Amino acid sequence: MESKPLNVHSIESFGTQDGPGIRMVVFLQGCNIRCKYCQNADTISLEGGTLTPIDDLVKRAVNMKPYFKNIGGVTVSGGEPLLQADALIPFFKALNAEGINTNVDTNGTVTTEAAKKIISEVSDLVMFDVKHTTVEGFEALVKARGLKKVIENIELREQSGKPYWLRYVLVPGITDSDESLEWLAQTFGNNKHLDRLEILPFHKLGEHKWEMLGEKYELQDQEENTQENLDRVEAYLSKTFKNLVIK
Ligand code: SF4
Repeated sequence: MESKPLNVHSIESFGTQDGPGIRMVVFLQGCNIRCKYCQNADTISLEGGTLTPIDDLVKRAVNMKPYFKNIGGVTVSGGEPLLQADALIPFFKALNAEGINTNVDTNGTVTTEAAKKIISEVSDLVMFDVKHTTVEGFEALVKARGLKKVIENIELREQSGKPYWLRYVLVPGITDSDESLEWLAQTFGNNKHLDRLEILPFHKLGEHKWEMLGEKYELQDQEENTQENLDRVEAYLSKTFKNLVIK
């Protein structure tokens, strides 16, 4: 049976920010939440994108294999890639058959059977965003429910014994309280298969995309992190997380 195509927003050939090594990053169109700080606001709409056959994407990745070396590969990001989990399963299996490493960069809120299959067995690596540490804070920041689902999906990956990363955007006054840092340490600090916690300092690089879409960028007046704040967070979290990376 012919596989479903993926609805692709854009492709970055030599990504170095979304997983190990050099990666082909496929950004899919459409997201189920709406983070105030989203840097790819043009990927949120479920409309638009280009329906792209999986075979075309696999061929492109195979051509890039010399650059991947031993640690690179393909990352699927978005938007929220697990909204297209049905089509991602055959895509990832075809990549693995070519010896190419797979990684999915997800907000963790999708709980369909196909999404769970990717999380628990299909993807070589999963990078989960943890958007906030309280239900109220999560819902205010991303305009949707889902923190419980994120925690459940991370637990599913942990139980699978396969590696994963967590990524946490540090927004002063919103996600950087001592209570939030302590929650991260308590909730994930003992997880055996967590390979890396990445702290992504908030910045306003995506602001112009909201403007181009004619939409309000709600964090216009939000302060960025001072070096002092980053040092405080690093000192706190590095006590628990051995593979802490502040980007
Ligand atoms: S999950 Fe990602 S793509 Fe979706 S709104 Fe948030 S930052 Fe943007």
